[in-house]
Amino acid sequence: MSEINENATNTKDVIILGSGPAGLTAALYTARAFLSSLILTGMSLHGQAGSTDIIENYPGFPNGIGGSELGLLFQSQAERFGAEVVMDQAISVDLQKYPFIVKTYSSTYAAKSIIISTGATHKKLNVPGEKKFTGRGVSYCGTCDGWFFKDKDVIVVGGGDSALEEGIFLTRFAKSVTIIHRRDKLRAGAFLQKRAFANPKISFIWNSVVTEIIGDDSLQAAKLKDVITNEENIVSIDGVFIFIGNEPNRQLFEGQLELDEEGYIKVNRFMETSVSGVFAAGEIADPHFRQVITSAGMGAAAGIQATRYLEDLESDGS
Ligand code: NAP
Repeated sequence: MSEINENATNTKDVIILGSGPAGLTAALYTARAFLSSLILTGMSLHGQAGSTDIIENYPGFPNGIGGSELGLLFQSQAERFGAEVVMDQAISVDLQKYPFIVKTYSSTYAAKSIIISTGATHKKLNVPGEKKFTGRGVSYCGTCDGWFFKDKDVIVVGGGDSALEEGIFLTRFAKSVTIIHRRDKLRAGAFLQKRAFANPKISFIWNSVVTEIIGDDSLQAAKLKDVITNEENIVSIDGVFIFIGNEPNRQLFEGQLELDEEGYIKVNRFMETSVSGVFAAGEIADPHFRQVITSAGMGAAAGIQATRYLEDLESDGS
């Protein structure tokens, strides 16, 4: 690595990629350490939490809090200490040069350290009709699209926390919500299961997968397959909500950082990646917990470590 080029234009102490709980908490810590801290929000402001209807397991909010409201609180707290939030997205990063280079749609920055908190994106079913009807009956976000399904019949695919949480949310609008799960046991936590089973608008189809989404101009039905009997069945519905897990947003870092076999960035307990000065926090580095509180905790740790890294660098250079 070459020396820091202090004359590089647009050089920041820390560039944080992503504006979810991990990124905004990291920025809070680095900004409070008087480091110039730039957050590039990415496409989804406040990350997945920002499009969650209500968050009931983030401590400090005994009655729960809206995801977008919590995101705004995280952001204003970081901004209060000088963090700069820019609505832009990194399109390339060069971690071989130092300072690191981050290119966005509108600018090029140099960064003395980087905190990656790019999170994860919903997985797709990859069945016929899914792409055709995305945004026109197929959705990956109940909070965003639920309103369009007032008095309609919808199916929800998946058996995890997201499927149940979003399915319960959708009952505010939909006439019926049928959860299609590929096994006969849910992966979701006990609390959400209890709520879903008690909801009169929710029913379940077990041991089944969606093999096709059908319609001409508008979505009309889904083809289901029973994975035990192989029987196929067409159900008439108006909407398909898909919650079958997430994939880490790691494309910018492939070939530059060590990833695990599922594509998550490998970090140690100091949130350090395989490149010195580059840290990762939140779901991009966490295939296991994926909670707002754990992401915020990882963000705090990454912010503290980035600060120590820059202090060490400065004292080595002096
Ligand atoms: P998840 O826990 O990975 O669950 C995905 C679900 O989709 C599983 O039930 C899985 O079935 C099913 N599935 C996967 N691929 C499929 C396919 N190709 N076809 C049909 N079904 C498929 O994902 P998630 O529910 O999005 O949750 C992600 C993380 O966020 C978890 O750690 C979760 O605890 C957390 N989360 C927490 C909350 C909360 O605490 N309130 C809310 C939302 C999410 P199998 O069960 O058979 O594998």
